[in-house]
Amino acid sequence: MRLEILQGDITTRDVDAIVNAANSSLMGGGGVDGAIHRAAGPELLAACREVRKEYPGGLPVGRAVATPGFNLPSRWVIHTVGPNRHAGQTDPGLLASCFRESLAVAESLGARSVAFPAISAGIYGWDAREVATVAFDVVRNFGADGSPALELVEFVLFSPEMTTVFRDVSGA
Ligand code: ADP
Repeated sequence: MRLEILQGDITTRDVDAIVNAANSSLMGGGGVDGAIHRAAGPELLAACREVRKEYPGGLPVGRAVATPGFNLPSRWVIHTVGPNRHAGQTDPGLLASCFRESLAVAESLGARSVAFPAISAGIYGWDAREVATVAFDVVRNFGADGSPALELVEFVLFSPEMTTVFRDVSGA
């Protein structure tokens, strides 16, 4: 499994699945969530409404679900709910769960490539370095445990600063 760190807009990535840093409502929001909904088109919100019926109280923090990608280059969007530091969700295990569950969903879809944003490092207030540390830890373990389908995991970071942090933490 290859690991790549890129700077750019995740909605342009031509990978099998992109991961959305969603909120529990699955009804869209700011940041990367808003960008993904804009780029995918209104069918994404309709698909999220359908998924949401299975989670009347909202998708729990640390969980992940998939929808089609509609107008996106990627075939699927995997929506995961990161912990919100401003709401006292400071357990790194919850963040690790986001990455792990998203990879498991990607694998169950048969995805060979998946792109992640810096989950919880925006509006949800987590320190970039901590997010990167958790992300690499989970992804490397997932790769080491033998995941035959997944060939490429990308981290797509929006800002040069976030990209530097991810490169730094990865040791690349
Ligand atoms: P959260 O609520 O989980 O913190 P945000 O969307 O606020 O999610 O931020 C997560 C990260 O995604 C931030 O580093 C933000 O700069 C970044 N981001 C915003 N838009 C995009 C995009 N189009 N592509 C990739 N990353 C993005």
